[in-house]
Amino acid sequence: MQEKKKLGLAAWIFIAMLVGIVVGVAASGSEGAVTIISTYIKPFGTIFVNLLKAVVVPVVLISIICGMISMEDVKKVGSVGWKTIAYYLCTTAVAIVIGLVAANLFKGFFPVLETADVTYEAKSANFMDTIVNIFPSNMWSSFFNANMLQVIVIALALGAGILVTGEKAQPVVDFFNSLNDVVMNVMMGVIKLTPIGVFCLMADTVAVNGPKIISSLAIVLAVAYLAYLIHLLGVYSFTVKTMGNLSPGAFLKGMAPAMIMAFTSTSSVATLPVTMDCSKNLGADEEVSSFVLPLGATINMDGTAIYMGVTSIFIACCYGVDLTLAQMATIIITATLASIGTAGVSGAGMIMLAMVLESVGLPVAGIGLIVGVDKIFDMGRTTLNIVGDASCAIIVSNWEKKAAAKKAAAK
Ligand code: ASP
Repeated sequence: MQEKKKLGLAAWIFIAMLVGIVVGVAASGSEGAVTIISTYIKPFGTIFVNLLKAVVVPVVLISIICGMISMEDVKKVGSVGWKTIAYYLCTTAVAIVIGLVAANLFKGFFPVLETADVTYEAKSANFMDTIVNIFPSNMWSSFFNANMLQVIVIALALGAGILVTGEKAQPVVDFFNSLNDVVMNVMMGVIKLTPIGVFCLMADTVAVNGPKIISSLAIVLAVAYLAYLIHLLGVYSFTVKTMGNLSPGAFLKGMAPAMIMAFTSTSSVATLPVTMDCSKNLGADEEVSSFVLPLGATINMDGTAIYMGVTSIFIACCYGVDLTLAQMATIIITATLASIGTAGVSGAGMIMLAMVLESVGLPVAGIGLIVGVDKIFDMGRTTLNIVGDASCAIIVSNWEKKAAAKKAAAK
């Protein structure tokens, strides 16, 4: 019965996306229709994303704390933690390599663009600043500003504090567990609105971005999407099958609602509630995924990493720069770090791209070349980002299950 209901929501989300595309395409020819969509339909999409963002800070904070509490000892948290981080880092590095290889293969097709009038004000994205900013000086301001890396640090500290305190912390444990149930129910309520949100966002994106903006940068977009697809169908299918014991087809089918949500909202953090729901339905252990997924939505960005690799090569080509192998290696390292520092919100990857370009001496103003289509890059990279998170939840759940079975057998 419940299975049927879940399927219903996924189908509705898909239908909503298709209807959104049709409405967007129909409207894109007429300025009046585009204005109507932007003025009256988009706001409902914005309301939906706002609602999701509103539940995200409590969801991340409480689910990480409860995930840690349910693991019962700091050792288990450490065991899940290092496996998660190792998986995230490895897949991200592979992602950039795929991006770099794809872009190098196709760079002969990149158009020589007019670079003289490029204007783009890059915000500063200094690596050391990124590290310092992870650590909050005031817990409440981290919550107010929804600074997710800081929220994660707070959650990890509180979770560890509770575990170390032991029995005396029981009232706090009960409080967080009860609050977790409440927040999850609120979140499920918001998720039910997904089809409406997806329709409104999709119709607006298609209507506003229309086909004309895509055409001039079609090749670099195609290369990025090709790399996204290779990573999705190659890397994740492989890892989920071999390490997660799940067929790639079932995995992608189960992830479809979250993928559509990520594609339309371009925010991993806003998609987090749907990602959690899909992973649960795919059999990921709740105590593992409540730790792995919020962490992943903030630090694991394989799609963003691919985007950084592809666009770096593209921008280099546009400026007539031929990157050396050493510079490519630098891109792999900085893009891994930059993708970790990228916030899981719409457009954040483009700001962090400045750091990657700077690291190899490319003009940051080159971002101006792609800013017009960044939204389209973002749709694909966000989708890949959340699929990567979910693959980790499934794989680490499987590892933990196996480890527990081994332990039980040894007793
Ligand atoms: N929008 C992406 C995400 O939320 C981040 C990025 O801009 O690359 O995952």
